[in-house]
Amino acid sequence: MVSTRVKLTIAFVAGMIAVTITLFLAVLTARNNAVYHDIAQYAAAQGDLASRVIMDAAQAKQKVLANGDTALIPLLSSKLVDRLQVVPGYIVVVDTAGRAVYRSNDVMRLKGEDMATLETQLQDLPKSGEALIFSLDSLQEKLLFVSHSLPGTPGGLSRIASGAVATRASTVPREYLLDAALIVPLIITAAGMGAFVFLGRTQRQLAEITTEVAAITDGRSLHRRLALSEETTDFADLVMTLNAMIGRLETSFGALRRFTADASHELKTPLAVLRADVERAMHDSSSQTERMVALEEALQEVRRMTDLVESLLTLARADEGRFDIYREPIELQPLVQEVYETALILGEAQGVTVNLPFTTDVVVMADRTRLRQLFINLVTNAIKYTPAGGKVELGLGRHPDNVTFAVRDTGIGISAADFPHIFERFWRADRVRSRMSERGGFGLGLAISQWIAQAHGGTLTASSRLGRGSLFTVTLPIASDAERA
Ligand code: ADP
Repeated sequence: MVSTRVKLTIAFVAGMIAVTITLFLAVLTARNNAVYHDIAQYAAAQGDLASRVIMDAAQAKQKVLANGDTALIPLLSSKLVDRLQVVPGYIVVVDTAGRAVYRSNDVMRLKGEDMATLETQLQDLPKSGEALIFSLDSLQEKLLFVSHSLPGTPGGLSRIASGAVATRASTVPREYLLDAALIVPLIITAAGMGAFVFLGRTQRQLAEITTEVAAITDGRSLHRRLALSEETTDFADLVMTLNAMIGRLETSFGALRRFTADASHELKTPLAVLRADVERAMHDSSSQTERMVALEEALQEVRRMTDLVESLLTLARADEGRFDIYREPIELQPLVQEVYETALILGEAQGVTVNLPFTTDVVVMADRTRLRQLFINLVTNAIKYTPAGGKVELGLGRHPDNVTFAVRDTGIGISAADFPHIFERFWRADRVRSRMSERGGFGLGLAISQWIAQAHGGTLTASSRLGRGSLFTVTLPIASDAERA
Protein backbone atom coordinates (compact mmCIF):
# COMPACT_ATOMS: atom_id res chain seq x y z
CA MET A 1 0.00 0.00 0.00
CA VAL A 2 1.25 3.46 -0.84
CA SER A 3 2.11 5.38 2.32
CA THR A 4 0.43 8.67 3.19
CA ARG A 5 3.83 10.30 2.88
CA VAL A 6 4.15 9.20 -0.78
CA LYS A 7 0.51 10.10 -1.51
CA LEU A 8 0.92 13.60 -0.07
CA THR A 9 4.18 14.13 -1.97
CA ILE A 10 2.51 13.06 -5.22
CA ALA A 11 -0.43 15.39 -4.54
CA PHE A 12 1.97 18.25 -3.81
CA VAL A 13 4.01 17.68 -6.99
CA ALA A 14 0.81 17.32 -9.07
CA GLY A 15 -0.46 20.58 -7.59
CA MET A 16 2.81 22.32 -8.44
CA ILE A 17 2.73 21.01 -12.02
CA ALA A 18 -0.87 22.20 -12.45
CA VAL A 19 -0.01 25.66 -11.10
CA THR A 20 3.10 25.88 -13.29
CA ILE A 21 1.21 24.91 -16.45
CA THR A 22 -1.53 27.45 -15.72
CA LEU A 23 1.06 30.14 -15.06
CA PHE A 24 3.02 29.22 -18.20
CA LEU A 25 -0.10 29.41 -20.38
CA ALA A 26 -1.10 32.74 -18.86
CA VAL A 27 2.36 34.26 -19.47
CA LEU A 28 2.47 32.86 -23.01
CA THR A 29 -0.96 34.26 -23.84
CA ALA A 30 -0.02 37.70 -22.49
CA ARG A 31 3.25 37.66 -24.43
CA ASN A 32 1.58 36.54 -27.68
CA ASN A 33 -1.10 39.21 -27.32
CA ALA A 34 1.60 41.86 -26.96
CA VAL A 35 3.51 40.54 -30.01
CA TYR A 36 0.28 40.42 -32.04
CA HIS A 37 -0.45 43.99 -31.08
CA ASP A 38 3.05 45.13 -32.17
CA ILE A 39 2.74 43.35 -35.54
CA ALA A 40 -0.71 44.86 -36.17
CA GLN A 41 0.71 48.31 -35.43
CA TYR A 42 3.65 47.71 -37.74
CA ALA A 43 1.35 46.55 -40.57
CA ALA A 44 -0.90 49.58 -40.01
CA ALA A 45 2.12 51.90 -40.18
CA GLN A 46 3.19 50.38 -43.52
CA GLY A 47 -0.36 50.81 -44.88
CA ASP A 48 -0.31 54.39 -43.68
CA LEU A 49 2.94 55.03 -45.49
CA ALA A 50 1.63 53.54 -48.76
CA SER A 51 -1.58 55.57 -48.50
CA ARG A 52 0.41 58.73 -47.92
CA VAL A 53 2.46 58.01 -51.10
CA ILE A 54 -0.76 57.68 -53.15
CA MET A 55 -2.52 60.68 -51.53
CA ASP A 56 0.59 62.88 -52.03
CA ALA A 57 0.66 61.97 -55.75
CA ALA A 58 -3.06 62.67 -56.07
CA GLN A 59 -2.74 66.02 -54.28
CA ALA A 60 0.21 67.01 -56.52
CA LYS A 61 -2.13 66.31 -59.45
CA GLN A 62 0.25 63.64 -60.70
CA LYS A 63 -1.02 60.73 -62.71
CA VAL A 64 -2.20 57.90 -60.49
CA LEU A 65 -3.11 55.46 -63.22
CA ALA A 66 -1.03 54.66 -66.31
CA ASN A 67 -4.08 54.09 -68.45
CA GLY A 68 -7.43 55.72 -67.91
CA ASP A 69 -9.33 52.66 -68.99
CA THR A 70 -10.99 51.15 -65.97
CA ALA A 71 -12.66 48.37 -67.91
CA LEU A 72 -9.36 46.46 -68.03
CA ILE A 73 -7.42 46.00 -64.81
CA PRO A 74 -6.00 49.48 -64.33
CA LEU A 75 -2.24 49.93 -63.97
CA LEU A 76 -0.68 52.40 -61.59
CA SER A 77 1.63 54.96 -63.13
CA SER A 78 5.20 53.71 -63.12
CA LYS A 79 6.30 56.70 -61.03
CA LEU A 80 3.80 55.75 -58.31
CA VAL A 81 4.81 52.08 -58.50
CA ASP A 82 8.46 53.09 -57.99
CA ARG A 83 7.55 55.08 -54.93
CA LEU A 84 5.29 52.37 -53.48
CA GLN A 85 7.99 49.76 -53.89
CA VAL A 86 10.04 51.62 -51.30
CA VAL A 87 7.40 50.67 -48.69
CA PRO A 88 8.43 47.25 -47.31
CA GLY A 89 6.14 44.31 -46.50
CA TYR A 90 3.00 42.93 -47.99
CA ILE A 91 1.02 45.73 -49.65
CA VAL A 92 -1.99 45.30 -51.92
CA VAL A 93 -3.84 48.31 -53.39
CA VAL A 94 -7.47 47.64 -54.34
CA ASP A 95 -9.75 49.77 -56.53
CA THR A 96 -13.44 50.51 -56.03
CA ALA A 97 -14.36 47.40 -58.05
CA GLY A 98 -12.36 45.27 -55.61
CA ARG A 99 -9.55 44.51 -58.06
CA ALA A 100 -5.90 44.41 -56.95
CA VAL A 101 -4.14 47.14 -58.93
CA TYR A 102 -0.85 46.96 -57.09
CA ARG A 103 1.00 44.14 -55.28
CA SER A 104 4.25 44.76 -53.45
CA ASN A 105 7.33 42.65 -54.19
CA ASP A 106 6.74 40.47 -51.10
CA VAL A 107 3.23 39.69 -52.38
CA MET A 108 4.50 39.00 -55.90
CA ARG A 109 7.01 36.50 -54.51
CA LEU A 110 4.20 34.32 -53.06
CA LYS A 111 3.58 30.99 -54.77
CA GLY A 112 0.40 30.55 -56.84
CA GLU A 113 -1.65 28.76 -54.16
CA ASP A 114 -0.62 31.21 -51.44
CA MET A 115 -1.49 34.07 -53.74
CA ALA A 116 -4.95 32.54 -54.27
CA THR A 117 -5.45 32.16 -50.49
CA LEU A 118 -4.37 35.76 -50.01
CA GLU A 119 -6.82 37.04 -52.64
CA THR A 120 -9.76 35.18 -51.06
CA GLN A 121 -8.81 36.22 -47.53
CA LEU A 122 -8.54 39.86 -48.53
CA GLN A 123 -12.14 39.77 -49.74
CA ASP A 124 -13.13 39.25 -46.09
CA LEU A 125 -10.75 41.88 -44.72
CA PRO A 126 -12.80 44.18 -42.47
CA LYS A 127 -12.86 47.78 -43.74
CA SER A 128 -11.14 49.10 -40.63
CA GLY A 129 -10.31 48.23 -37.07
CA GLU A 130 -9.92 44.46 -36.64
CA ALA A 131 -6.95 42.76 -38.19
CA LEU A 132 -7.20 39.47 -40.09
CA ILE A 133 -4.77 36.61 -39.52
CA PHE A 134 -4.43 33.57 -41.75
CA SER A 135 -1.76 31.02 -42.59
CA LEU A 136 -0.20 30.43 -45.95
CA ASP A 137 0.59 26.75 -46.45
CA SER A 138 3.61 26.73 -48.71
CA LEU A 139 5.09 29.79 -47.08
CA GLN A 140 4.49 28.08 -43.72
CA GLU A 141 3.92 31.41 -42.10
CA LYS A 142 0.98 33.28 -40.70
CA LEU A 143 0.20 36.69 -42.15
CA LEU A 144 -1.63 39.53 -40.44
CA PHE A 145 -3.44 42.10 -42.59
CA VAL A 146 -5.10 45.41 -41.82
CA SER A 147 -7.16 47.59 -44.12
CA HIS A 148 -6.69 51.30 -44.79
CA SER A 149 -9.29 53.38 -46.74
CA LEU A 150 -8.12 55.97 -49.26
CA PRO A 151 -10.19 59.17 -48.77
CA GLY A 152 -11.74 60.47 -51.99
CA THR A 153 -10.79 57.29 -53.89
CA PRO A 154 -8.08 58.98 -56.04
CA GLY A 155 -7.97 57.45 -59.51
CA GLY A 156 -10.67 54.98 -58.43
CA LEU A 157 -8.40 53.45 -55.76
CA SER A 158 -10.43 52.41 -52.73
CA ARG A 159 -8.16 50.93 -50.04
CA ILE A 160 -4.84 49.45 -49.12
CA ALA A 161 -4.32 46.12 -47.41
CA SER A 162 -1.01 46.01 -45.59
CA GLY A 163 0.36 42.91 -43.90
CA ALA A 164 3.25 41.46 -41.97
CA VAL A 165 4.43 38.00 -40.92
CA ALA A 166 2.65 37.15 -37.66
CA THR A 167 3.90 33.62 -36.97
CA ARG A 168 5.75 34.94 -33.91
CA ALA A 169 2.43 35.90 -32.29
CA SER A 170 1.27 32.31 -31.99
CA THR A 171 4.42 30.34 -31.22
CA VAL A 172 6.23 29.42 -28.02
CA PRO A 173 9.58 31.22 -27.90
CA ARG A 174 12.74 29.17 -27.47
CA GLU A 175 13.63 30.57 -24.05
CA TYR A 176 10.17 29.65 -22.77
CA LEU A 177 10.66 26.11 -23.99
CA LEU A 178 14.01 25.92 -22.24
CA ASP A 179 12.37 27.03 -18.96
CA ALA A 180 9.52 24.58 -19.35
CA ALA A 181 11.73 21.64 -20.25
CA LEU A 182 14.63 22.13 -17.88
CA ILE A 183 14.37 24.71 -15.11
CA VAL A 184 10.75 24.11 -14.05
CA PRO A 185 11.14 20.30 -13.78
CA LEU A 186 14.29 20.88 -11.71
CA ILE A 187 12.46 23.21 -9.32
CA ILE A 188 9.48 20.85 -9.04
CA THR A 189 11.74 17.86 -8.36
CA ALA A 190 13.59 19.79 -5.67
CA ALA A 191 10.31 20.93 -4.08
CA GLY A 192 8.93 17.38 -4.24
CA MET A 193 12.04 16.03 -2.52
CA GLY A 194 11.78 18.76 0.12
CA ALA A 195 8.13 17.86 0.75
CA PHE A 196 9.04 14.16 1.02
CA VAL A 197 11.73 14.86 3.62
CA PHE A 198 9.45 17.23 5.58
CA LEU A 199 6.58 14.71 5.56
CA GLY A 200 8.99 12.04 6.78
CA ARG A 201 9.80 14.21 9.81
CA THR A 202 6.08 14.81 10.44
CA GLN A 203 5.38 11.10 10.15
CA ARG A 204 8.14 10.28 12.64
CA GLN A 205 6.67 12.78 15.11
CA LEU A 206 3.20 11.28 14.76
CA ALA A 207 4.61 7.76 15.12
CA GLU A 208 6.36 8.85 18.31
CA ILE A 209 3.14 10.34 19.72
CA THR A 210 1.20 7.18 18.77
CA THR A 211 3.74 4.90 20.50
CA GLU A 212 3.66 7.04 23.63
CA VAL A 213 -0.15 7.18 23.72
CA ALA A 214 -0.29 3.40 23.29
CA ALA A 215 2.15 2.96 26.20
CA ILE A 216 0.19 5.33 28.43
CA THR A 217 -3.28 3.96 27.68
CA ASP A 218 -2.42 0.33 28.40
CA GLY A 219 -4.36 0.97 31.62
CA ARG A 220 -1.54 1.03 34.15
CA SER A 221 0.25 4.23 33.17
CA LEU A 222 -2.59 6.75 33.02
CA HIS A 223 -0.69 8.96 35.47
CA ARG A 224 1.92 9.62 32.75
CA ARG A 225 1.60 12.45 30.23
CA LEU A 226 3.02 13.02 26.75
CA ALA A 227 6.17 15.11 26.81
CA LEU A 228 6.41 18.20 24.60
CA SER A 229 9.85 17.47 23.16
CA GLU A 230 11.82 18.95 20.28
CA GLU A 231 10.51 16.03 18.22
CA THR A 232 6.83 16.69 18.85
CA THR A 233 6.87 20.48 18.86
CA ASP A 234 4.93 20.69 15.56
CA PHE A 235 2.01 18.93 17.23
CA ALA A 236 1.89 20.90 20.48
CA ASP A 237 -1.90 21.35 20.24
CA LEU A 238 -2.48 17.66 19.60
CA VAL A 239 -0.18 16.70 22.49
CA MET A 240 -2.01 19.08 24.83
CA THR A 241 -5.43 17.80 23.75
CA LEU A 242 -4.31 14.20 24.20
CA ASN A 243 -2.89 15.02 27.63
CA ALA A 244 -6.20 16.58 28.65
CA MET A 245 -8.01 13.47 27.39
CA ILE A 246 -5.64 11.15 29.28
CA GLY A 247 -6.26 13.29 32.38
CA ARG A 248 -10.01 12.80 32.04
CA LEU A 249 -9.51 9.08 31.44
CA GLU A 250 -7.38 8.86 34.57
CA THR A 251 -10.09 10.60 36.61
CA SER A 252 -12.90 8.39 35.36
CA PHE A 253 -10.83 5.21 35.64
CA GLY A 254 -9.99 6.19 39.21
CA ALA A 255 -13.65 6.89 39.96
CA LEU A 256 -14.65 3.56 38.44
CA ARG A 257 -12.02 1.69 40.47
CA ARG A 258 -13.08 3.45 43.66
CA PHE A 259 -16.75 2.81 42.87
CA THR A 260 -16.19 -0.92 42.33
CA ALA A 261 -14.04 -1.18 45.48
CA ASP A 262 -16.64 0.75 47.52
CA ALA A 263 -19.54 -1.32 46.19
CA SER A 264 -17.76 -4.61 46.95
CA HIS A 265 -16.85 -3.31 50.38
CA GLU A 266 -20.44 -2.28 51.10
CA LEU A 267 -21.67 -5.73 50.10
CA LYS A 268 -18.99 -7.59 52.09
CA THR A 269 -20.30 -6.64 55.55
CA PRO A 270 -23.99 -7.51 55.01
CA LEU A 271 -22.95 -10.78 53.31
CA ALA A 272 -20.76 -11.72 56.29
CA VAL A 273 -23.59 -10.88 58.69
CA LEU A 274 -26.05 -12.81 56.53
CA ARG A 275 -23.77 -15.84 56.52
CA ALA A 276 -23.34 -15.74 60.29
CA ASP A 277 -27.14 -15.42 60.74
CA VAL A 278 -27.88 -18.36 58.47
CA GLU A 279 -25.23 -20.48 60.20
CA ARG A 280 -26.74 -19.52 63.57
CA ALA A 281 -30.24 -20.46 62.40
CA MET A 282 -29.03 -23.78 61.09
CA HIS A 283 -27.08 -24.69 64.20
CA ASP A 284 -28.51 -27.75 65.98
CA SER A 285 -28.13 -26.21 69.42
CA SER A 286 -30.06 -23.03 68.55
CA SER A 287 -33.43 -22.62 70.11
CA GLN A 288 -36.51 -21.72 68.11
CA THR A 289 -36.37 -18.10 69.39
CA GLU A 290 -32.67 -17.78 68.53
CA ARG A 291 -33.40 -19.06 65.05
CA MET A 292 -36.19 -16.51 64.56
CA VAL A 293 -33.92 -13.67 65.72
CA ALA A 294 -31.15 -14.82 63.36
CA LEU A 295 -33.54 -15.07 60.41
CA GLU A 296 -35.03 -11.65 61.22
CA GLU A 297 -31.52 -10.16 61.16
CA ALA A 298 -30.75 -12.00 57.92
CA LEU A 299 -33.89 -10.56 56.35
CA GLN A 300 -32.82 -7.06 57.37
CA GLU A 301 -29.44 -7.56 55.74
CA VAL A 302 -31.12 -8.83 52.58
CA ARG A 303 -33.26 -5.66 52.54
CA ARG A 304 -30.17 -3.52 52.96
CA MET A 305 -28.43 -5.28 50.10
CA THR A 306 -31.48 -4.95 47.89
CA ASP A 307 -31.53 -1.20 48.61
CA LEU A 308 -27.85 -0.95 47.77
CA VAL A 309 -28.17 -2.90 44.53
CA GLU A 310 -31.16 -0.79 43.52
CA SER A 311 -29.24 2.42 44.17
CA LEU A 312 -26.26 1.13 42.22
CA LEU A 313 -28.50 0.18 39.32
CA THR A 314 -30.10 3.64 39.32
CA LEU A 315 -26.70 5.32 39.20
CA ALA A 316 -25.37 2.94 36.54
CA ARG A 317 -28.41 3.68 34.34
CA ALA A 318 -28.02 7.39 34.98
CA ASP A 319 -24.36 7.18 33.89
CA GLU A 320 -25.33 5.40 30.72
CA GLY A 321 -28.05 7.99 30.04
CA ARG A 322 -30.57 5.13 30.09
CA PHE A 323 -32.68 6.52 32.92
CA ASP A 324 -36.35 5.70 33.04
CA ILE A 325 -37.78 9.15 33.58
CA TYR A 326 -41.31 9.81 32.32
CA ARG A 327 -42.05 13.49 32.70
CA GLU A 328 -45.61 14.73 32.97
CA PRO A 329 -47.27 17.78 34.54
CA ILE A 330 -47.15 17.30 38.33
CA GLU A 331 -48.88 19.46 40.96
CA LEU A 332 -46.13 20.00 43.53
CA GLN A 333 -48.27 21.04 46.47
CA PRO A 334 -49.99 17.64 47.02
CA LEU A 335 -46.66 15.84 46.54
CA VAL A 336 -44.92 18.02 49.14
CA GLN A 337 -47.88 17.55 51.51
CA GLU A 338 -47.49 13.78 51.16
CA VAL A 339 -43.73 13.98 51.81
CA TYR A 340 -44.43 16.21 54.82
CA GLU A 341 -46.81 13.63 56.28
CA THR A 342 -44.19 10.87 55.92
CA ALA A 343 -41.65 13.20 57.53
CA LEU A 344 -43.98 13.79 60.47
CA ILE A 345 -44.07 10.05 61.20
CA LEU A 346 -40.29 9.64 60.78
CA GLY A 347 -39.63 12.75 62.90
CA GLU A 348 -41.93 11.57 65.67
CA ALA A 349 -39.96 8.33 65.97
CA GLN A 350 -36.72 10.35 66.23
CA GLY A 351 -38.07 13.06 68.52
CA VAL A 352 -37.61 15.68 65.81
CA THR A 353 -40.23 18.36 65.12
CA VAL A 354 -41.17 18.72 61.44
CA ASN A 355 -42.86 21.84 59.98
CA LEU A 356 -44.15 22.94 56.60
CA PRO A 357 -44.58 26.72 57.02
CA PHE A 358 -45.17 27.60 53.39
CA THR A 359 -46.17 25.91 50.13
CA THR A 360 -47.40 27.15 46.78
CA ASP A 361 -49.54 26.04 43.89
CA VAL A 362 -47.22 25.16 41.05
CA VAL A 363 -46.89 22.61 38.24
CA VAL A 364 -43.59 21.13 37.04
CA MET A 365 -42.79 18.59 34.32
CA ALA A 366 -41.53 15.65 36.33
CA ASP A 367 -41.43 11.95 37.00
CA ARG A 368 -43.56 11.71 40.13
CA THR A 369 -41.82 8.63 41.59
CA ARG A 370 -38.33 10.06 41.07
CA LEU A 371 -39.28 13.45 42.44
CA ARG A 372 -40.80 11.83 45.54
CA GLN A 373 -37.60 9.79 45.96
CA LEU A 374 -35.54 13.01 45.81
CA PHE A 375 -37.69 14.84 48.39
CA ILE A 376 -37.84 11.81 50.70
CA ASN A 377 -34.03 11.40 50.50
CA LEU A 378 -33.50 14.98 51.67
CA VAL A 379 -36.14 14.74 54.40
CA THR A 380 -34.83 11.42 55.77
CA ASN A 381 -31.28 12.76 55.80
CA ALA A 382 -32.43 15.86 57.68
CA ILE A 383 -34.21 13.75 60.29
CA LYS A 384 -31.40 11.18 60.39
CA TYR A 385 -28.73 13.79 61.06
CA THR A 386 -30.75 15.83 63.58
CA PRO A 387 -30.61 14.74 67.22
CA ALA A 388 -33.80 14.41 69.27
CA GLY A 389 -35.26 17.78 70.18
CA GLY A 390 -34.11 19.34 66.90
CA LYS A 391 -36.24 20.85 64.14
CA VAL A 392 -36.72 20.15 60.45
CA GLU A 393 -38.49 22.68 58.23
CA LEU A 394 -39.75 22.06 54.70
CA GLY A 395 -40.82 24.79 52.26
CA LEU A 396 -42.04 25.13 48.69
CA GLY A 397 -41.43 28.57 47.18
CA ARG A 398 -42.36 29.99 43.80
CA HIS A 399 -40.07 32.34 41.81
CA PRO A 400 -40.50 33.97 38.38
CA ASP A 401 -39.20 30.99 36.35
CA ASN A 402 -38.56 28.27 38.88
CA VAL A 403 -39.76 26.67 42.07
CA THR A 404 -37.64 25.67 45.09
CA PHE A 405 -38.16 22.89 47.57
CA ALA A 406 -36.02 23.48 50.67
CA VAL A 407 -35.25 21.26 53.65
CA ARG A 408 -33.63 22.98 56.63
CA ASP A 409 -32.54 21.19 59.78
CA THR A 410 -30.96 22.14 63.10
CA GLY A 411 -28.88 18.94 63.09
CA ILE A 412 -25.22 18.03 63.34
CA GLY A 413 -24.31 19.87 60.12
CA ILE A 414 -21.32 19.15 57.88
CA SER A 415 -17.76 20.40 58.43
CA ALA A 416 -16.18 22.65 55.81
CA ALA A 417 -13.64 19.91 55.06
CA ASP A 418 -16.36 17.32 54.41
CA PHE A 419 -18.76 19.61 52.59
CA PRO A 420 -17.17 19.39 49.07
CA HIS A 421 -17.60 15.59 49.13
CA ILE A 422 -21.23 15.17 50.11
CA PHE A 423 -22.46 14.54 46.56
CA GLU A 424 -19.74 11.95 45.86
CA ARG A 425 -20.78 8.31 45.65
CA PHE A 426 -20.27 6.23 48.80
CA TRP A 427 -19.14 9.27 50.70
CA ARG A 428 -20.20 9.60 54.33
CA ALA A 429 -18.98 12.11 56.87
CA ASP A 430 -18.08 9.40 59.33
CA ARG A 431 -17.97 6.08 57.52
CA VAL A 432 -17.31 3.68 60.37
CA ARG A 433 -19.78 5.15 62.79
CA SER A 434 -22.54 5.67 60.27
CA ARG A 435 -22.34 2.09 58.98
CA MET A 436 -22.46 0.71 62.49
CA SER A 437 -25.11 3.05 63.83
CA GLU A 438 -28.76 2.95 62.95
CA ARG A 439 -28.13 5.90 60.59
CA GLY A 440 -26.33 3.41 58.34
CA GLY A 441 -26.75 4.86 54.80
CA PHE A 442 -24.53 3.91 51.87
CA GLY A 443 -23.53 7.41 50.93
CA LEU A 444 -25.41 7.12 47.62
CA GLY A 445 -28.55 9.08 48.51
CA LEU A 446 -27.26 12.55 47.67
CA ALA A 447 -25.55 11.35 44.47
CA ILE A 448 -28.88 9.92 43.30
CA SER A 449 -30.78 13.02 44.48
CA GLN A 450 -28.46 15.29 42.53
CA TRP A 451 -28.86 13.18 39.41
CA ILE A 452 -32.68 13.29 39.72
CA ALA A 453 -32.64 17.10 40.05
CA GLN A 454 -30.36 17.46 37.03
CA ALA A 455 -32.38 14.99 34.95
CA HIS A 456 -35.35 17.32 35.50
CA GLY A 457 -33.39 20.32 34.27
CA GLY A 458 -32.94 21.53 37.84
CA THR A 459 -30.26 21.68 40.54
CA LEU A 460 -29.64 20.46 44.06
CA THR A 461 -27.56 22.77 46.24
CA ALA A 462 -26.58 22.66 49.89
CA SER A 463 -25.14 24.82 52.65
CA SER A 464 -24.23 23.68 56.10
CA ARG A 465 -22.42 24.58 59.32
CA LEU A 466 -21.01 21.99 61.65
CA GLY A 467 -23.13 21.72 64.79
CA ARG A 468 -25.67 24.24 63.48
CA GLY A 469 -27.58 22.40 60.80
CA SER A 470 -27.93 22.19 57.03
CA LEU A 471 -30.06 23.52 54.20
CA PHE A 472 -30.68 21.49 51.03
CA THR A 473 -32.48 23.24 48.14
CA VAL A 474 -33.92 21.69 44.98
CA THR A 475 -34.63 24.13 42.15
CA LEU A 476 -36.89 23.00 39.30
CA PRO A 477 -38.16 24.81 36.19
CA ILE A 478 -41.90 25.61 36.20
CA ALA A 479 -43.88 23.88 33.44
CA SER A 480 -44.78 26.21 30.54
CA ASP A 481 -48.39 26.58 29.39
CA ALA A 482 -47.63 24.46 26.32
CA GLU A 483 -46.18 21.68 28.47
CA ARG A 484 -49.16 21.74 30.83
CA ALA A 485 -51.50 21.45 27.89
P1 ADP B 1 -26.28 8.50 53.47
O1 ADP B 1 -27.05 7.34 52.96
O2 ADP B 1 -25.03 8.13 54.18
O3 ADP B 1 -27.12 9.48 54.17
P2 ADP B 1 -26.15 10.53 51.47
O4 ADP B 1 -25.55 10.52 50.13
O5 ADP B 1 -27.58 10.83 51.57
O6 ADP B 1 -25.76 9.16 52.13
O7 ADP B 1 -25.37 11.59 52.31
C1 ADP B 1 -23.96 11.59 52.28
C2 ADP B 1 -23.39 12.15 53.56
O8 ADP B 1 -23.68 13.52 53.66
C3 ADP B 1 -24.00 11.53 54.80
O9 ADP B 1 -23.33 10.37 55.16
C4 ADP B 1 -23.80 12.64 55.81
O10 ADP B 1 -22.51 12.58 56.37
C5 ADP B 1 -23.93 13.89 55.01
N1 ADP B 1 -25.27 14.48 55.08
C6 ADP B 1 -26.28 14.38 54.21
N2 ADP B 1 -27.36 15.07 54.61
C7 ADP B 1 -27.03 15.64 55.80
C8 ADP B 1 -27.71 16.51 56.71
N3 ADP B 1 -28.96 16.92 56.51
N4 ADP B 1 -27.03 16.89 57.82
C9 ADP B 1 -25.78 16.50 58.03
N5 ADP B 1 -25.08 15.71 57.20
C10 ADP B 1 -25.69 15.28 56.08
